[in-house]
Amino acid sequence: MKPTALVAGNWKMNGLASSQAELEALGNYLSDGSAADCDVLICPPFTLIAAFASNAPTGVAIGAQDCHTNKSGAHTGDISAEMLSDAGASYVIVGHSERRADHGESSALVRDKANAVLAEGLKAIVCVGETEAERDAGKTLDVVLGQVAQSVPAGSIPENTVVAYEPVWAIGTGRTPTVADVAEVHTAIRGALVERFGDAGNGFRILYGGSVKPSNAAELMAADNVNGALVGGASLKASDFNGIIDAYR
Ligand code: PGA
Repeated sequence: MKPTALVAGNWKMNGLASSQAELEALGNYLSDGSAADCDVLICPPFTLIAAFASNAPTGVAIGAQDCHTNKSGAHTGDISAEMLSDAGASYVIVGHSERRADHGESSALVRDKANAVLAEGLKAIVCVGETEAERDAGKTLDVVLGQVAQSVPAGSIPENTVVAYEPVWAIGTGRTPTVADVAEVHTAIRGALVERFGDAGNGFRILYGGSVKPSNAAELMAADNVNGALVGGASLKASDFNGIIDAYR
């Protein structure tokens, strides 16, 4: 059975308390418009999670963009999955390429973070994706499937883990792979999940991320084995994000 799609917004280091208005606008659109056949998630910066979670409109889940592997301890500046759960988050993005690049996060560390998320009963969104140089060298599937193998925990099940394929060169650039290229990578990820988890592998949601916007969402979301989107820039404005959710109406 096809999993229920997920449209997730990753606000990155954007948004202040005034952004609550965008969350409300999103909620109004979701309740006014025809029902969307997808789950909807917003991952704001840590500082907004508690406020957003306590005011989240019906149908909008709130998540985080990273966490530490430990529950607590001497880790200045870090946030644990337990704290995120306490603040009202239900999902945590791990292994985003900006974390892998800016903070040197390895796939093994990403897996440990995902395990910490699952241990709190939260859902992990595990990000994978090749750089432009890797794509040009014909290594896309090797890199992506290697990251999936190493970053997705052994204890993952469709109910607690989402995989997000985000080609690094497509993030924030306005460039996207062709629909056929997206379908090829997603179908390869699906195959790897089925090989590893058996039939359950068919139930995992595999999101596409990288320059998704209202004008390209419908065709990208229709590609084989694409079960939603991870959206950066276009998730900051409710009007744009709604236009992406429209792919599921
Ligand atoms: P973008 O970012 O939509 O701005 O390309 C996607 C992401 O990094 O999750």
